[in-house]
Amino acid sequence: MTALGDLLIARIARTGPLSLADYMADCLMHPQHGYYATRDPFGAAGDFTTAPEISQMFGELIGLSLAQAWMDQGRPAPITLAELGPGRGTLMADALRATRGVPGFHDALTVHLVETSPALRQSQAKLIADATWHDSAATLPDAPLFVIANEFFDALPIRQFLREGDGWREKMVGLTDGALGFGVSEAAPIGLLQDRLNDTKDGDLVEYCPALPAITAALSAKIESFGGCALIIDYGDWTSQGDTLQALKSHKHTDPLAAPGQADLTAHVDFAAIAEHSHPARFSRLTPQGVFLERLGIVQRAQALAGGLSGEALKSHIAAHRRLTHRGEMGELFKVISIYPSNAAPPPGLEP
Ligand code: SAH
Repeated sequence: MTALGDLLIARIARTGPLSLADYMADCLMHPQHGYYATRDPFGAAGDFTTAPEISQMFGELIGLSLAQAWMDQGRPAPITLAELGPGRGTLMADALRATRGVPGFHDALTVHLVETSPALRQSQAKLIADATWHDSAATLPDAPLFVIANEFFDALPIRQFLREGDGWREKMVGLTDGALGFGVSEAAPIGLLQDRLNDTKDGDLVEYCPALPAITAALSAKIESFGGCALIIDYGDWTSQGDTLQALKSHKHTDPLAAPGQADLTAHVDFAAIAEHSHPARFSRLTPQGVFLERLGIVQRAQALAGGLSGEALKSHIAAHRRLTHRGEMGELFKVISIYPSNAAPPPGLEP
């Protein structure tokens, strides 16, 4: 068992089983042993690869979409350009480089990064010169907010509930013969799942992300009051159903209880929950990543970049384009939703 695993076993023996959300929170962000708190997990040598690490085109097109939204909203200044969970900082660096030529944009903006991992803050500081870091979206400035979140919401801890009659049993992490094991609580009515009684039946499993409402509401309130927009990109769908918890280590699925703190734990994002908490701002249509990138001109950008490449570099560029947009790869599994002000249009690439 890992060092964190031993700590969790001792804690459960003392104080009883943990909700899945408490277990995930320690696995991902425990200050000494947490997965993100201690390492850079990205890329071929790491545990998983994200879109900005696959190709520079991803961050470039997102930067240009936000810059166009800024122009469409009358070029307000000063503005906040923010990212939630920026990883290595690659997406923000690509977005800033691609928008250098947009007149007035860089003069208007300051960069704000919401990141809890000290290790990743250090990586971000190497790529992005003048940024301000935040522990939470709640402290972003009162100003027009242009914000991107790519594979951020999937890293937020979730709770899981199994329906029984009109009540729910919560899935818990407890001890089985001295080792970590799953169990369930007694069935009880759960107020926050009242709506889910309409679209589930006995035995169904639903997931609930406790941090999502406050984060979404914080972004929406600023966007509605001051202007701006959010681009939220992740895997998942409209309303989650079923067990989507997954653990990834060295690009392979593993048992989420096997190596606490050493595997990435994620769950599909419930975009309906994001839409529900976007009030009083508006939310756009949920759009597949491939469609979004094609509307923003990825084909033309890919052709322009291909002109300067040959041999292996050209092959891997073509593979990266395919990986981001193809239906069988990230093009359809990943979706994009925007939050935008009730008096503005959604950013380019998305429809109301
Ligand atoms: N957006 C990046 C990284 C995705 S991984 C990319 O696409 O490559 C998830 C990121 O969110 C990491 O940077 C992680 O440290 C950060 N993160 C996870 N939970 C967080 C939280 N509760 N608050 C702030 N950042 C968090």
